[in-house]
This record gives sequence, structure tokens and C-alpha cells, in this order.
Amino acid sequence: AAPDSLLEFRNIRVVYDNAIEAVRDVSIAVPEGGIVALLGSNGAGKSTLLKAMSGILYTEEGVIESGSIRFRGEDVHHLAPDELVRRGIVQVPEGRRVFASLTIEENLQMGGYTRSNAAARERRDKVFALFPRLHERRDQIAGYMSGGEQQMLAIGRALMTDPKLLALDEPSLGLAPLIIDRIYEVIVRLRDELKMTVLLVEQNAQRALDIADYGYILETGRVVLDGTARKLAANEDVQEFYLGVS
Ligand code: ATP
Repeated sequence: AAPDSLLEFRNIRVVYDNAIEAVRDVSIAVPEGGIVALLGSNGAGKSTLLKAMSGILYTEEGVIESGSIRFRGEDVHHLAPDELVRRGIVQVPEGRRVFASLTIEENLQMGGYTRSNAAARERRDKVFALFPRLHERRDQIAGYMSGGEQQMLAIGRALMTDPKLLALDEPSLGLAPLIIDRIYEVIVRLRDELKMTVLLVEQNAQRALDIADYGYILETGRVVLDGTARKLAANEDVQEFYLGVS
């Protein structure tokens, strides 16, 4: 892989319950400052890769059987989840899990727990600048917000830790097109204005390839195709199977 990769999966193999091979020999490089899309249908192994990267496979009896995950040139696949967050690897899990009974502001505070008050306030103001909607509704209870607002909050909470690499697991899932536009605009700003590196997991290949620099397509635990987003979007197989064009 390119030497300037911020994150690298090398020949990763993940097995659940000593039996189910969810990821088989996958190598993926995420260059610094780029958006890399990880595409593929249900069960392809996308979430498993994110869980491996976040150190949370063990919660589901999953084990990295072989291979390595390197972040800024160091092996990190043995590190605990909180240490990975401290190093700058942060994930917004699928299903936008927010603290439903807390306000928006309180949710953001929970995300900034590793930082001093002044630093946390500064981060919060940045999040509010990215998502004015969250600022408008900061005293509202998160559980009563729309799915789109909850997705914004889940992203905002992840940003409170000042990540170097932000992984998003299906941020467009179940949202209306206009809301997806809003969220994707922010993802592009994270790369262009905040110089963040983004790993974008999506079933919505069209959307993801519109903003990504590079993409990988996963099928049953293997990378079957990778290339620049432009190349993938022009590929006939990709168009037929993932973009709904025929
Ligand atoms: P989705 O979009 O549905 O999340 P995915 O591409 O993220 O799909 P994974 O969730 O990583 O796919 O699943 C990959 C494979 O691993 C699937 O065959 C799935 O059934 C299996 N798997 C996932 N989690 C577990 C688990 N906790 N225990 C056993 N098998 C699992």
C-alpha cells in the first residue's frame, strides 16, 4: 500500500464464534486526508472490519485470526477501544446510537469526556458550526429528534474526541434524500476544511462514490474490486450490481 496511509488493514481475517469466517484476507489502505468508501451488500463484512478497527470484536466473540491493522505506521489491533479513541480512531456505529434521554448538549458533553472543559467547549462550538440544526435544538431531548438529527448528533458526538480517522457505518441508512445531502455535505467538509480522514461504509454506493476518493467493494468477506471512486462508478459490474444502472 501507499506509504502515506493513515490506516491500513493487512491481510485481515476475522472469525466469529470460532466458526464463521466473516472477513477473509482483506487488505485496505486509507490515505491521510481522503475519503475511502467501503461498499458491499448485507453481510459482506464491512461492519466487522470497523469493529476490528475499533477494538470491539470481542463483545461479539469475534477474533482477528491473522493479519494486522496499522495506524500511523504502528500496529494497533491489540489495543483497547479507549486507547484507540485516544489515538484518534473513532467510529460512528450503524443505527446512530445516541443517549435518548439526554439533551443534545449533554450527548456532546459525553462525547468529549476525554478533554478539558475549555477544549470540550471549543469542540462543541465546532460541531454546532458544522450542524446548525444541533445548535438550534441543543436543549432538546435526543430521543425525540428525527432520524436525521440523531445521525447528525451521533457524528457530532464522535467529533468531540477530535478524531484523525472517522469511520461512519451506513450514515445514510433509512434517511430521506434531503437529509442525506446535508450529512454528506458535512462529511465532505470534514475532509476539505478539517483535514480529517474518513472511512465511509455504505450500501448506498451511488452516494458514497459521489464524494469518495477511492473505494473498495467487499463480497462475502473479500475485496472483489477496488479503485478510484471515478473508476468504480464507471465500471459496468459496479453499475449493474451496486448502482442500480443497467
Ligand atoms: P451489514 O450491512 O448487514 O452490517 P456487513 O457488510 O457490515 O453487513 P458484517 O455485519 O460485518 O457485514 O457481517 C459479515 C458476516 O459475519 C456475516 O455473514 C454475518 O452474519 C457474520 N457476523 C456478523 N456479526 C456476527 C456475530 N456477532 N456473530 C456471528 N456472526 C456474525
